[in-house]
Amino acid sequence: MRDSECIFCKIAGGDIPSATIYEDEKFRVILDLGPASKGHALILPKEHFANIYELDEKTAADAFILAKKMAGKMTEALGCDGFNIVQNNGSVAGQTVFHFHIHLIPRYENDGVGLGWKPGQLTEEQKEEILSKMRE
Ligand code: AMP
Ligand code: ZN
Repeated sequence: MRDSECIFCKIAGGDIPSATIYEDEKFRVILDLGPASKGHALILPKEHFANIYELDEKTAADAFILAKKMAGKMTEALGCDGFNIVQNNGSVAGQTVFHFHIHLIPRYENDGVGLGWKPGQLTEEQKEEILSKMRE
């Protein structure tokens, strides 16, 4: 199903032109308009899912298989030195477009792309709390 209000539905469906680097029946892969690095691209399913929670398992599997293939192709074509696969869900996690997508971010020596976080510390208390909640 498509969402008539969703920009990524329009792009994935070809109603809005995009810089497409790959397309098949289920997905379109486009260059990000605000790239973190040279070649930053997005995998868009042609069907509308707001986020990973809505995504069905088959599409999730196909999307990650495609991410693996694109990482190989893009690394070969662009000569990058590493690769980040990023996927945001919810505005608190940095999602700004509410149509599921996977970021493909080629990385280059000294590219200055900031995707890191400040490591915290796993306390005994937190560890026990999480383990017990996850085992429920
Ligand atoms: P996220 O913050 O994970 O939701 O990622 C949304 C991404 O979509 C950002 O990296 C934007 O630069 C990118 N973006 C937004 N609109 C467009 C568009 N029309 N075409 C290509 N990329 C877009
Ligand atoms: Zn959509």
